[in-house]
Amino acid sequence: MKVIYTDNNATTQVAPEVLEEMLPYFHDLYGNPSSMHTFGGQVAGKLKEARQRVAGLIGATADEILFTSCGTESDNTAIRAAIASQPHKKHVITTRVEHPAVKNLCEHLDGHGYRVTFLPVDRQGRLDLEPLYKALSHDTAIVSIMWANNETGVIFPVDEIARVVRERGVVFHTDAVQAVGKVPIDTKHFPVDMLSLSGHKLHAPKGVGALYVRKGTKFSPFLIGGHQEKGRRGGTENVASIIGLGKACELALEHLEEENERVRYLRDKLEDGILERISNAMVNGDREHRLPNTTSISFEYVEGEAILLMMNEFNICASSGSACTSGSLEPSHVLRAMGVPFTAAHGSIRFSLSINNTEEEVDFIIDKLPPIIERLRELSPFWTDSKTAAAVCS
Ligand code: PLP
Repeated sequence: MKVIYTDNNATTQVAPEVLEEMLPYFHDLYGNPSSMHTFGGQVAGKLKEARQRVAGLIGATADEILFTSCGTESDNTAIRAAIASQPHKKHVITTRVEHPAVKNLCEHLDGHGYRVTFLPVDRQGRLDLEPLYKALSHDTAIVSIMWANNETGVIFPVDEIARVVRERGVVFHTDAVQAVGKVPIDTKHFPVDMLSLSGHKLHAPKGVGALYVRKGTKFSPFLIGGHQEKGRRGGTENVASIIGLGKACELALEHLEEENERVRYLRDKLEDGILERISNAMVNGDREHRLPNTTSISFEYVEGEAILLMMNEFNICASSGSACTSGSLEPSHVLRAMGVPFTAAHGSIRFSLSINNTEEEVDFIIDKLPPIIERLRELSPFWTDSKTAAAVCS
């Protein structure tokens, strides 16, 4: 049975063009880009091209791009670089809905000599900017706020935030891992100091990422070692993957319009089709300011994991909004921060599409999902209770 893959915020398929560009660098062109000889020099030339391609996607210059091993490393590097280069400042500002790559680091810092402000969001997952502006002080080393949320797709007003934060002389970092390649980003016009991206979210391989560091930003390396990346990140480069990331960024620029039109159309069709056919279902997050590929939908009185298992029987891949890996089935910190009611947060599913999805696949999901939810609700004591309560109230 064909796999219907709607879990692209978890990871994407490597594009064939990306793979093709990478292959020679595993075997034939295996030189070290730092070597003096021509053989290594060929590889260095291709790395330079990759850096330019990554920069091109976000309106940066090549020397503002630092290659890393993943989005998590980019996020950690940005925050650690900002605090290490301003040792007298002991305050960090972030939000309650960041990916664990930022959230868990900030929680760690909170217990190790830093004061961290975790900004709340409203029921739609939106940030109120007043508390952010009030929290800024002469002691703030960095503000780190994501561009777009990985679970709901909600986009924060990064432009406005960055302007105010920088005017107050504070370093601004944004985790744009889910935004890059899905929405236009131009660092020439968006005044961010640092921006993280990750290869495997945009059809490049896993294990490669990049950090944009605006020229003149205070920086101190996280990985100390060789002179690679102009001394800003030691370690021999993951050559083939960096080349793949470069190609993927070039393709993402070409596909940006398709991502915002065809993928958005498919996402909206999927969402509307589900909401029309299934009662007690709701979209989590601000539907207006959202990534074009993402929808998080809560189905009341059923468990997300049970929905995933039953969709799996039709080879439909998506994600749930619970931290099931911890064994707790706790709703995710994002849905909890938004105040999504317990009965809904437990039954939330994230569908995240890509340019590889088709209308037939969307129709297939719209067809298969309603009987799945109906069956699970028949088995759910909470559903029966809710219907009884509704009957009594009416
Ligand atoms: N930030 C966000 C918003 C993400 O969605 C992810 C991955 O899901 C990361 C950071 C971490 O990226 P990586 O898996 O490359 O470490």
